[in-house]
Amino acid sequence: MVKEIVVVGSGLAGSMVAHFLQETCHVTVICKGGKANSNSMLAQGGIAVALREDDTFQSHLKNTLEAGSFYNDRKNTALLVKTGPKVIKELISQGLTFDQDETGHLAYGLEGAHDIPRILHAKGDQTGQVVTEFSQSRLDKVDWIEHAQVIDLLVNELGQCTGVTYLDQRNQLQQINGDKIILATGGVGGLFPLSSNDLTVTGVGIALAKRNQVEVKDLEFVQFHPTLLTKNGKCYGLVSEAVRGAGAVLVDETGRLIMKDRHVRQDLAPRDVISRILSQELEQGHDIYLDISKVENFEKKFPQITANLFKQGIPFQTTNKIPVRPGAHFIMGGILTDSYGQTSMPNLYAVGEVACTGVHGANRLASNSLLECLVFATRVSEHILQASQSVSIAKNERLVKKQPEKFHLPNKELLQDRAWQAIGIERKRTDLIDFLHWLSGYHYTYIPTDLTKQEAELADLCCVAEEIARAALARPISIGAHFIKGE
Ligand SMILES: Cc1cc2nc3c(=O)[nH]c(=O)nc-3n(C[C@H](O)[C@H](O)[C@H](O)COP(=O)(O)OP(=O)(O)OC[C@H]3O[C@@H](n4cnc5c(N)ncnc54)[C@H](O)[C@@H]3O)c2cc1C
Repeated sequence: MVKEIVVVGSGLAGSMVAHFLQETCHVTVICKGGKANSNSMLAQGGIAVALREDDTFQSHLKNTLEAGSFYNDRKNTALLVKTGPKVIKELISQGLTFDQDETGHLAYGLEGAHDIPRILHAKGDQTGQVVTEFSQSRLDKVDWIEHAQVIDLLVNELGQCTGVTYLDQRNQLQQINGDKIILATGGVGGLFPLSSNDLTVTGVGIALAKRNQVEVKDLEFVQFHPTLLTKNGKCYGLVSEAVRGAGAVLVDETGRLIMKDRHVRQDLAPRDVISRILSQELEQGHDIYLDISKVENFEKKFPQITANLFKQGIPFQTTNKIPVRPGAHFIMGGILTDSYGQTSMPNLYAVGEVACTGVHGANRLASNSLLECLVFATRVSEHILQASQSVSIAKNERLVKKQPEKFHLPNKELLQDRAWQAIGIERKRTDLIDFLHWLSGYHYTYIPTDLTKQEAELADLCCVAEEIARAALARPISIGAHFIKGE
């Protein structure tokens, strides 16, 4: 029997699952924006994979565990780095092209906390776009529902997931049922005032999980990237770590080398270490720049970043300086899954950044996330193809049952600012308690049936903020990206 599959999210994780399942199942992909709205499309750095002759999966594993403060799920992490080369080789054999060196072999870049150059790029800094578009270009049997914002899960009387509800392009409430529902909705960037994420990425997966008692894990581990391009206090995209890998250094307004003597790896120290140092520099009133004067062929190596700098009117060609600040980038935690993407709710899967497979531990190693999307999309698809049973799709009980409740939501900018203070780069126990107290004055727990997309998104953000704050409070010790300052 052909299975009805609903995939939520058009990033790399969602597109790959849809690709693997489209031959044997009927697949519908729902996404909040257009197909191209995702963090996957923005990924500049590349894909980490132990393919080089002098590299080993053990070395990749070691670096991943080190970056994750050894908090990683060992089994899934080993799976990631061991399966990675096979998955990448398959994509190459299917026509995906990665950048090559002068001799015609794959070119490997170096990024922070990797012992060896093992980062594959496609069209320089356009890796995410190239790989995601390659994946989407093969989706010829899939139905798309674009500009549709998923707001809740449908669950039958047996506690099985049977579909989702969403607000369509005209803000009308709709539902879609499926035998298997796959959440590939990405991270939580929209919760913070400065974020590298696509605007559609606002933590819905975690909110859906919490509203429906699906288990989540490790939400306190949010990665802040040190170098978001900023102008007048606003973020205009990311300046990849690869730029520092190519020789750029962090300086203040006087040209002082910020990372000198602050860490053995200096400008290639782990992201959380650099972000904290930069946050302190900002508190002391300094401006922060990436000095790119030592980067050879900057414009050729980083065409997407260059185009963005021109677009934002940054005079980097004359100054050799790019203004940057740290901001929210990635969440290591998410919906708890097993190694096949199964969540604690039957028939509900999670894959990509929204999932917590434990492969990133307490902090993600650079360029491991696209690899996670690829490896675990394969696993989810294998599992679904092997599962013989199809669930009985219940009537849309949730939609009918849920009584409209009065929302009381904070102003979005205020929520973001308070989130930055309480659950940003450095956290304090007292701030976390205050933040939770402040949130408790609002009402965002249930989704009523007559709400706008903006209200639904804000309710999701509140829900995610609360969960991150609770998780942070429950971990009084600093580890990885979670940093607790004294009282
Ligand atoms: C600027 C930037 C650069 C990065 N660089 C790298 C890199 O070089 N290497 C690397 O490994 N990782 C990188 N990352 C991280 C990596 O890109 C992401 O973790 C990864 O792409 C996540 O893929 P995903 O498919 O899980 O989610 P995403 O690609 O974020 O896709 C999420 C999808 O869900 C949709 N969605 C969200 N909410 C809803 C809703 N309510 N209803 C319907 N649809 C919804 C979104 O619109 C989107 O289509 C980078 C991230 C950013 C932001």
